[in-house]
Amino acid sequence: MPSNPLKLTILGSGTSMGVPSLGCHCRVCTSSDPRDNRLRPSVLLSRNGQQVVIDTTPDFRQQALRIGLQRLDAVLFTHAHADHIFGFDDIRPFNMRQKSPLPIYANAETIEVLRNAFAYVFDGRPKVSTVPAVTVNHISGRIELLGTTITPIPLVHGDLNVLGFRFGRAAYLTDFSAVPDSSLPLLQNLDDLILDALRDTPHPMHQTVEQALRLIDQLKPRRAWFTHIAHELPHAETNERLRSLGYPHVQMSYDGLELDVEVEDRTPSPKIELQQSAPFAVFSSPQAWNTYYAPLHRGSVLAIGNFDGIHLGHQEILRDVAHRAAISGDVATALTFEPPPLKVLRPDAAPRRLSTNFQRIEWFRVMGLESAVVHEFTLELSKLSPEEFVKQILVTQLRVRAVLVGENFRFGYRQAGTAEHLKVLGSHLGFRVIAVPPVVYRGEVVSSTAVRREIAEGNVGRADRLLGRPFVLTGDVVSGKGIGHRFTVPTLNLVADQELLPANGVYITRTLLDGESKSRRSVTNIGMRPTFNGTALSVETYLLDAPEEFTAKRIEIRFWKRLRGERKFATADELKAQIARDVAATHRFFSRLRTFRSARQPVGYSSD
Ligand SMILES: [Zn+2]
Ligand SMILES: [Zn+2]
Ligand SMILES: [Zn+2]
Repeated sequence: MPSNPLKLTILGSGTSMGVPSLGCHCRVCTSSDPRDNRLRPSVLLSRNGQQVVIDTTPDFRQQALRIGLQRLDAVLFTHAHADHIFGFDDIRPFNMRQKSPLPIYANAETIEVLRNAFAYVFDGRPKVSTVPAVTVNHISGRIELLGTTITPIPLVHGDLNVLGFRFGRAAYLTDFSAVPDSSLPLLQNLDDLILDALRDTPHPMHQTVEQALRLIDQLKPRRAWFTHIAHELPHAETNERLRSLGYPHVQMSYDGLELDVEVEDRTPSPKIELQQSAPFAVFSSPQAWNTYYAPLHRGSVLAIGNFDGIHLGHQEILRDVAHRAAISGDVATALTFEPPPLKVLRPDAAPRRLSTNFQRIEWFRVMGLESAVVHEFTLELSKLSPEEFVKQILVTQLRVRAVLVGENFRFGYRQAGTAEHLKVLGSHLGFRVIAVPPVVYRGEVVSSTAVRREIAEGNVGRADRLLGRPFVLTGDVVSGKGIGHRFTVPTLNLVADQELLPANGVYITRTLLDGESKSRRSVTNIGMRPTFNGTALSVETYLLDAPEEFTAKRIEIRFWKRLRGERKFATADELKAQIARDVAATHRFFSRLRTFRSARQPVGYSSD
């Protein structure tokens, strides 16, 4: 299975002072070739919508702005020289947007310098203003990030021990004067080697062009790229020199250069990641989308699917769409259908939906997309051949530049089109197709079907893990029969918008009342109310901390854990006693959760 490539972007290709160097009027510092403009050395690694930078240079803020960086998942440090760490304070906006500390990875020496240089980050004292929030990871071996493995490469940089990094078939080695013999085996079979080549005259801490070429002769990567370049080396002229020296596969890198790197997949650990929203628009047809965006000369990066539940697999696709669109400037768009095609084509076989159309749209927005097209699905639409579907809808109307679909994606009349088919059409019609491999959680492919099964069986805890967030029911509050109130405890009765309910039983939940921003602890019963000889299925929720006055017309119930099955009690008093035990269990559950969280997610100081 070919896996998603990792994208490497050169954020800065310059030496510690950058090029132009302040006050210098040499021909490179005054060159009009943009590739002679070099910010301080750093790269961005991105994959599946996640992003990692190597080093936070003094230019980090500018580099992040230049590529429209929307989120950050980790920072790897090579070493602690000022040109590699001084942008560290600028990770704060990502802390705030993502509402979580940022993992940083470095060797012990680098962490020591960071602690001194940025003492206010690590001293654990209360702050009146924001400081970077991080979790500190000492690098002691391979690192799992971006759904793949990153290998640290020990290097010598003058009298310092520093790190380079290898990921799949590429390695990034900035700042070094020598590669220890023990690191050479880690650098075999590379497609792309990005390496220090400061200038021609020797330097105690960096490689010269000559030394870089000797290392390239030894390691034989398919391509090599210079970085950490000083103002002595003009871009175009040096490339010309490399060609004439017999190194056509060796080039100067430059800010903005992007490389696709082949990497191996590792099962990602599921976690939810919300993005702050940009402006967001919903269209009822591809034509409507076209009317809006065509005059702006904007195309789309497109996700197509049903997205029922927006589980971890969907989230991965949507994140990737948002990310690619942020880089290319196209409109991050989801194309989905209403009703779901199966409800039209084979109503008997159509599964109960986990989510409403409204929830789907809300999630598109939250995942950072810019627009959604909710196209009415009709028999007529189902008769389009795969080619017609692609030409009419994707190419003509949605002006597609790239499409991301799940690997098992099917489209067109009789579901004849596959992801492979789409790739062929894309190569003829000029758009990229990325088939995103499924997310695997504990050995199982995450799918809407799997989530539905867990919900139907009442395993809401497991369903929550596949969804990356609690399963929710939304709906109107109706006044119940009043029996609950008279005999036991006051409850809210919900008419759920969703088609699929968790199995009958009692659940630990949190309930959000319309108009409030914080959910309240609750216990929710789904069932027939057998103690009162009920005959209709009801969803009743009991708030552990109810407001004085109760005015909400709509509520949202978030399911955390199943407590027990539904039982018939002999008397209302017995039921009331059981409810008291359920309430106590719920309080215990959330208290434990709180302790666990504060122990695991230190904000503002290190965890090592
Ligand atoms: Zn440096
Ligand atoms: Zn200069
Ligand atoms: Zn250095």
